[in-house]
Amino acid sequence: MIYDLVVVGAGVGGLSAAALLAKAGMRVLVLEANYLPGGCCSSYWRKGFVFETGATTLMGFDENQPLAFLEKELELTLPKIEIEPAMTVWMDGKPILRPKSKNEWLNIALDTFGAPRGQQKLWNLIFNLSDFVWKASSRNLRFPPASIKDLLTLLIKNSITDLPKLRYAFRSMQQLLVDLELEENTRLIRFLNQQLLITAQSTVEATPVLFAAPALAYTNYSNYYLPGGMLQLPQALIQKLEAYGSQLLLRNKVVNILPARKQTYRIITEKGNVYVAQKVLVNLPIWNLAALCNGVMQAYFAKLAAKFNHYWGAFTVGIAIEDHLDPHLTLHHQFILPQGIIIPFCESQSIFVSLSMPNDSERCKPGERVLAISTHAENPKKWFMLSKTEYETTKRQVLDFILNYLRQNLGGFQESKILYLHASTPLSWQDWIYRHEGSVGGIPQSMQRPIYKWNSAITPFKNFYLCGDTVYPGQGIPGVTLSGIIAAHRILNEWE
Ligand SMILES: Cc1cc2nc3c(=O)[nH]c(=O)nc-3n(C[C@H](O)[C@H](O)[C@H](O)COP(=O)(O)OP(=O)(O)OC[C@H]3O[C@@H](n4cnc5c(N)ncnc54)[C@H](O)[C@@H]3O)c2cc1C
Repeated sequence: MIYDLVVVGAGVGGLSAAALLAKAGMRVLVLEANYLPGGCCSSYWRKGFVFETGATTLMGFDENQPLAFLEKELELTLPKIEIEPAMTVWMDGKPILRPKSKNEWLNIALDTFGAPRGQQKLWNLIFNLSDFVWKASSRNLRFPPASIKDLLTLLIKNSITDLPKLRYAFRSMQQLLVDLELEENTRLIRFLNQQLLITAQSTVEATPVLFAAPALAYTNYSNYYLPGGMLQLPQALIQKLEAYGSQLLLRNKVVNILPARKQTYRIITEKGNVYVAQKVLVNLPIWNLAALCNGVMQAYFAKLAAKFNHYWGAFTVGIAIEDHLDPHLTLHHQFILPQGIIIPFCESQSIFVSLSMPNDSERCKPGERVLAISTHAENPKKWFMLSKTEYETTKRQVLDFILNYLRQNLGGFQESKILYLHASTPLSWQDWIYRHEGSVGGIPQSMQRPIYKWNSAITPFKNFYLCGDTVYPGQGIPGVTLSGIIAAHRILNEWE
């Protein structure tokens, strides 16, 4: 049997595309290496608790945002609950709430960092640009352009009045802070750097204002919690995929993708199964691609991956506790460490903590909570060079640092007995979902990479497409969902 499309990897990007294309009538097969779908946006069971693999915050359901499109198009029914305020940032021992209301946030920002004139201009610009980015990205599904036709479509779909906003794609946040005379406001810059790190994987110096805007306005849109865990999102997509007559096969690791007769592809799995498809959509990081291909395709993807040699890893911890936490805590927390203090070996300066919602009976018993903790790990390759003993010692050292920090800074954590704990390093990320050298979070924003040079869903190889967090627009669940929507749009345009 020849499938219309084989999707390699059941991350949110691949599953979004697969469900949309199954709905459009394609016969789709999704091949997933793991025993669970969702990749970085998933949940796993241990000792009766449900832990999150990576992602914990969820947005993208407001007007012009990709999950709103998906929800409507696929008639998804997600059991989502809006949380407000979604996040607290802790800096210098004080909480900085991040409410949804733009006015409320502006007041908090002015109280916390001063400089009213500059900050008012800064946040108004961030809000405007962020709304513009969501609107523009939702109507430009042929971006980045790969042909004259794409360029013409861009011209038709966009208004000349939007052109001035594009200059912010070539201006860094650092330059903007200078223009607004905020460049010496070190507390504000520390805050912006750590907030950008979790949403853009970069700092003010390396992030173009246009991409910093949606990253910094993240909490000013509707944020949600999924009872039962983030796995609910991939599960809902799979339900739709199957309802439209297509299929997902778990525990099917693809080891080779080869061009075959009549412009088809042969997709070979570790178990020795061979699938033939008219089209292939690969939902893996670009660093994983060369190993799956041969000949010119291998050379092309090796060269492409080499262009992006900076990526982050993650150190993550899942903890189940008896719940004696401060009942007023928001569900998400970013702890910015005091200046000069860094997490050993990871070199990071903040810790992100997400709590399960009280009484989420699908994740733990009443009176218990499940915590998902993560921090960036710089140069994840380092972890692979340690001896077994060094690895265990380093892992323990990072874990102890994080636990001690939280005992002193997360209200009630010290008093909450730990019932189960599980820590993961970049090695775990490679073992769990095969991300090359434990690289996660996509390609960090950089001023060296102009907007039109983002990796596209289209490749030079006919009928071979890409999506996921290393393809435009990258990063985070809304980003990879949009990458899946774009891939689906491209594939559908070229079908038949
Ligand atoms: C610690 C952490 C915290 C995060 N927090 C958030 C957050 O709070 N909010 C947010 O929006 N985003 C967050 N993100 C980012 C977000 O989770 C990811 O960007 C997104 O889920 C990546 O999706 P993807 O489609 O690129 O695929 P991935 O999640 O990478 O999935 C790819 C899938 O392909 C499978 N696979 C790999 N190799 C093969 C093969 N050879 N054959 C078959 N299958 C294969 C993998 O097992 C995996 O299931 C976080 C990420 C991390 C790591």
